[in-house]
Amino acid sequence: MPQLGFGVWQVEDEQAFSAVGQALDAGYRSIDTAAIYGNEEGTGKALAASGIDRDELFVTTKLWNADQGHDATLRAFDTSLAKLGLEYVDLYLIHWPLPSKDTYIETYKAVEKLYADGRAKAIGVSNFLTEHLERLLGETSVVPAVNQIELHPQFQQAASRAFHARHNIVTEAWSPLGQGKGLLKDPTIAELAAKHGKTPAQVVLRWHLQLGNVVIPKSVTPSRIAENIDVFDFELDDADLSALAGLESGKRLGPDPATFDVA
Ligand code: NAD
Repeated sequence: MPQLGFGVWQVEDEQAFSAVGQALDAGYRSIDTAAIYGNEEGTGKALAASGIDRDELFVTTKLWNADQGHDATLRAFDTSLAKLGLEYVDLYLIHWPLPSKDTYIETYKAVEKLYADGRAKAIGVSNFLTEHLERLLGETSVVPAVNQIELHPQFQQAASRAFHARHNIVTEAWSPLGQGKGLLKDPTIAELAAKHGKTPAQVVLRWHLQLGNVVIPKSVTPSRIAENIDVFDFELDDADLSALAGLESGKRLGPDPATFDVA
């Protein structure tokens, strides 16, 4: 799985066609979409139009909450594949655990079937707290390859990252740039950007890469799409990393997976 990919949340279907096309031109090979984003068709068209070999691409999509449950999961997966115009996805994730519904175990068992059939080359979860992962590890067979969670310098998820490392689960960071809100204006990050001759977004993405996170920044602006992948020619030192460690706020930007139950 490429360590840096392109996310398309809040990108309209038609805009996804051009944004994903630009990302592929800029060198991204991993694309993160989801059924609920409503842009699997535009994403799939951009993949096809690129002419890039299928085995060079890494495509992730996600099962929406309303489709949890064994049979509904299998149907939703068929719909996603058809919209993407693909024969398989590289990674299929359960989008949220929905503990109040308590169907993530049977849902994951259906996802394991997709894995066994080779239609999802890897399977995993998103927004799972360690308590959900512990139950999953105890009651199902395939260790999730990935847990995609909110993670950025203001919400660093140290406990989840440590749990993932112990179980060989890849930590994938969503909203890696803090959704482009206050984080990119932080004076510590501005200082590091000046020090390295890079932008605040590049410093934040570099921090993720050095921590070992997979990242999927989103942008629909061509210059930013290119900027966000141009992060492989510099390195943060120990002092930079400890300055960034000090930005933890304990506050999420998104919903709390323990209570989020929108279907
Ligand atoms: P992000 O942290 O990637 O921030 C994106 C925003 O930051 C852009 O809309 C833009 O305003 C700004 N931005 C991007 N590049 C910039 C740059 N170089 N300079 C300045 N500003 C810049 O936020 P995101 O879209 O929430 O997260 C990325 C991806 O993660 C999503 O597109 C989606 O694929 C995934 N995601 C998953 C979940 C989940 O529940 N699994 C939730 C949210 C997002």
